[in-house]
Amino acid sequence: MTILGIESSCDETAAAVYTKEGLKSNIIASQSVHRRYGGVVPELASRAHHKTIWGTVRQALDTANVSIKEIDAIAVTQGPGLMGALLVGICFAKGMSVARNIPLIGVNHMDAHIYANFIDENPEYPFVSLTVSGGHTQLVLVEGPFNQKVLGRTRDDAAGEAFDKIGKILGLPYPAGPVIDEKSKTGDPEFHRFPQALLNEGFEFSFSGLKTSVLYYLEEKDNRESFLEEHLNDICASVSEAITEVLVKKLRKAVEETGVQSMLLAGGVSANSMLREKAKSLAAELGIKLHIPKMAYCTDNAAMIAVTGYMMAQQGMYSDLNMKPFANFEAGS
Ligand code: ATP
Ligand code: MG
Ligand code: FE
Repeated sequence: MTILGIESSCDETAAAVYTKEGLKSNIIASQSVHRRYGGVVPELASRAHHKTIWGTVRQALDTANVSIKEIDAIAVTQGPGLMGALLVGICFAKGMSVARNIPLIGVNHMDAHIYANFIDENPEYPFVSLTVSGGHTQLVLVEGPFNQKVLGRTRDDAAGEAFDKIGKILGLPYPAGPVIDEKSKTGDPEFHRFPQALLNEGFEFSFSGLKTSVLYYLEEKDNRESFLEEHLNDICASVSEAITEVLVKKLRKAVEETGVQSMLLAGGVSANSMLREKAKSLAAELGIKLHIPKMAYCTDNAAMIAVTGYMMAQQGMYSDLNMKPFANFEAGS
């Protein structure tokens, strides 16, 4: 079984080939046009996908050394994501499906973030996934392939969104998550105690208050500019501490309440070094297994779409040509 995976939900045009021997290629074209706007501009994203998609797919096939004839199914991100961006990937996949008579598989992008953990490892069911990305933050109990239940999610901002919005307040470039991560390494996480929301309220998260509290904290400083200059790394570390502490405390609670013996991290924020360290300590303390994707499979990529497509094909989960994109997670579940 040879699967071509295509991802175009946001600002990465990506294609990958996955077979039973493993990942054969993984190509990403990241869009730089958005940088000067400090966020993704949907219409520009669609146009850039349109321009690069065929080249990206071609390169994924060439690198894997497979021809289109050898592809058994095309897995494509169906949602959640930007409608216009998703449509480019889906229309391309449908065109290829019709032209070459290859079955289609519509993949849920948030499932794919979870199953990215299966590219290099074989997590045992049941497990709890802490899925933390730019648009989502959720704890998911996964009892078997695609047999999953969301235990709780964020009421407002996602963890990655919190990093990015706070980074904007601190004057950092978009996406600020990786920049804050880097600066945190030489800062003091106890420099200032930012709020950790909803600690006693089940598995729900809230990060919008943290953003506001950073804003007020800086506004109160007499000389904001020089204060920021002197303590940027300490503030970054304190912000990272607040975000990752909440995430890991809730992850602990989910593991303890469900009694699972393995847990995993998924999504762009799972690239965060403080989160990875805290999750490792938690796993050691609880004596359970922890899986974290390789850095390249944390943020958006097509390897995760291809491996999820492979697993869906094994379950007979194919799509037909009426397959439509969906913008929100709820619409796809
Ligand atoms: P979604 O998957 O919810 O649709 P998305 O696809 O935009 O959203 P991802 O690509 O999974 O999100 O992740 C991107 C997010 O991860 C951004 O918010 C980015 O700042 C954040 N991120 C990436 N690396 C790090 C890091 N090292 N530390 C913290 N955040 C990070
Ligand atoms: Mg992106
Ligand atoms: Fe994503």
